[in-house]
Amino acid sequence: MKPRPIVIAHRGASGYLPEHTLAGKALALGMGADYLEQDVVATKDHELVVFHDLTLEPMTDVQARYPGRARADGRFYCIDFSLEEIRSLNVVERRAAEGQGSRYPGRFPEAAGHFGIPTLEEEIRFIEGLMRSTGRHVGIYPEIKSPAWHREQGVDIGPMMLEILARFGYRTANDPIFLQCFEAEELQRLRREHGCQLRLVQLIDSNSGNVSAGTLARIGGYANAIGPAISLIYRGMAGSMATLTSLVDDAHAEGLAVHPYTFRKDDLPAGFSDFDSLLNLFLAQIGVDGIFTDFPDLATACIARHFPA
Ligand code: CA
Repeated sequence: MKPRPIVIAHRGASGYLPEHTLAGKALALGMGADYLEQDVVATKDHELVVFHDLTLEPMTDVQARYPGRARADGRFYCIDFSLEEIRSLNVVERRAAEGQGSRYPGRFPEAAGHFGIPTLEEEIRFIEGLMRSTGRHVGIYPEIKSPAWHREQGVDIGPMMLEILARFGYRTANDPIFLQCFEAEELQRLRREHGCQLRLVQLIDSNSGNVSAGTLARIGGYANAIGPAISLIYRGMAGSMATLTSLVDDAHAEGLAVHPYTFRKDDLPAGFSDFDSLLNLFLAQIGVDGIFTDFPDLATACIARHFPA
């Protein structure tokens, strides 16, 4: 019997509430998620906040509140705003593009809530509070966003994250945390130069082509898991049969767990007409070790069917 996979609430229960809001994290915990994700970026005064993008305009009212504060490219960078300014913004559902409606129109309506951007510390304290009040345990799954870019802007966010995480008790491979990043150099640096003992996850984007055995062996030298795009595992349907790559088996052969992203009911890969079929394929047939999903309730329900307690 395969081990029970974990459910990682991708930016919270983001299928139901705007991403990276504390409300969305609370809902994800209530829905039975095993891990809650934090994307981490820096402010102008070098505070770390939980927000996905380097720029604020796709998910906040920054353009209306701070006109004239965009860079030459027309974008409003988090790193150009103080924490106090960022605290004053209202977070809304992700927009499809400038001046357009929601990227996922069936999700939480734009005018129906008031949400802020938390700091990493505030979010960890909030999760600690939820664990205490509910008696449920949940892990955290922070991502270091664009660390090389942040260093160019004068802030080294990876070591800053390690310091905060250690302060909250996340120090070893036995602690309920995975630390993720797309940049291999950053994970290697934290492991080798900063003595990081946390479980590390090498994210791999959909443009990476075939991930070779050599690449996986190198990743196995510093990381504990990979977080590949779904398309690096599932290539499409041939008739009624899914065409799969050997990535999951190859990673397992290197001792790497596999946590693919992102499972969305309202954004299915080609060849799927319902979310349960996609979940069944990955969780029950392929046997991945966890998934990033915007819909943690549906993933936990699928796992409960296939992995009875
Ligand atoms: Ca992320």
